[in-house]
Amino acid sequence: MTTNIRIDLFSDTKTRPSAAMRQAMAMAEVGDEQVDEDPTTNLLQERVAKLLGKEAALFTPSGTMCNQIALAVHCRPGEEVIADKTAHIVNSEAGGMAAIAGAQARTIDGVRGVFTAEQLQAALRMPARISPLQRLVSIEQTANLAGGTIWPLSIVSEVAEVARAAGMALHMDGARLLNAAVESGIAASSYAAPFDSVWIDLSKGLGCPVGAVMAGSAQFISEAARIKQRLGGAMRQSGMLAAAGIYALDNNVARLAEDHANARDFARIAAQVQSVIVDADAVETNIVVFDVAETGWTGPDLARRLLEDGIRVSVIGPTLMRAVTHLDVERAGVIEAAETFVRIIKQTH
Ligand SMILES: *Cc1c(COP(=O)(O)O)cnc(C)c1O
Repeated sequence: MTTNIRIDLFSDTKTRPSAAMRQAMAMAEVGDEQVDEDPTTNLLQERVAKLLGKEAALFTPSGTMCNQIALAVHCRPGEEVIADKTAHIVNSEAGGMAAIAGAQARTIDGVRGVFTAEQLQAALRMPARISPLQRLVSIEQTANLAGGTIWPLSIVSEVAEVARAAGMALHMDGARLLNAAVESGIAASSYAAPFDSVWIDLSKGLGCPVGAVMAGSAQFISEAARIKQRLGGAMRQSGMLAAAGIYALDNNVARLAEDHANARDFARIAAQVQSVIVDADAVETNIVVFDVAETGWTGPDLARRLLEDGIRVSVIGPTLMRAVTHLDVERAGVIEAAETFVRIIKQTH
């Protein structure tokens, strides 16, 4: 399957560590992370805590583990988490919310992954013995399956206010928080301010091979470290991985703007075909979600056809597809992918 892929827009997880990043990894000073003795991991954690405006941070093997740790710290079994219906914690973590924290989800039908304070208010339950306790509100910045939408700061604040008034904690799945920050010019720490827990992924658009870092209060992070240990996420000489993270924070953040420009161009070219449903103006970051229902193609068939030309995109529904731009696909590749997509559809109809 993967042999002839020239232009891989499947996900920004496809990025591979550059030579310079590998060099930084090879040279990293290391120690035993499980007892806080890895200096490079400690440095990365300090960097991310500062970046996100929190007291402390914790390096973990993955973003999924950050979400699962946060759920387990915030929630007891039987409690409820409110999130958008497209949320990664609801759809893409193998039921971990129920299996590990023992929590259940109440989903909101947001617009492109973003719900309003009014919608959150409507999702609150009357306190009653028969109702689950509502413990946590989780938002995704940017909203992945919805098409990389940025949660506007004003909506974040309003939603946070309603959550607080209801006595709930707040979690941000910030897998692509830095994409939002670069695009909007708003500091990551400003987006993160109302949240008890927030994490960024290193292994997506930042180009690292492994890892995510979660930030919060010193007390939250101390509890999170215990759950990380319980899940088997505690590592040893993780400085080799953390060094990639530090390298990425120094070198790969500002350039995310290029990915966003490339995604908009992909969408604009794809939108030239009338039967393709894509709102090019709504593309804010590095993700383009488009519907091919009216082209006569199914998502899987079209994805297979594109692969014949060495182009890979992902299929996220029967006719729904997703292209994600990132640092391993240059502008010319993105344009070629979009033009090939258009040509294939025009040829068949
Ligand atoms: C990728 C992703 C995750 C999971 O991160 P991993 O590092 O792949 O485990 C969680 N949430 C969102 C929004 C993501 O895009």
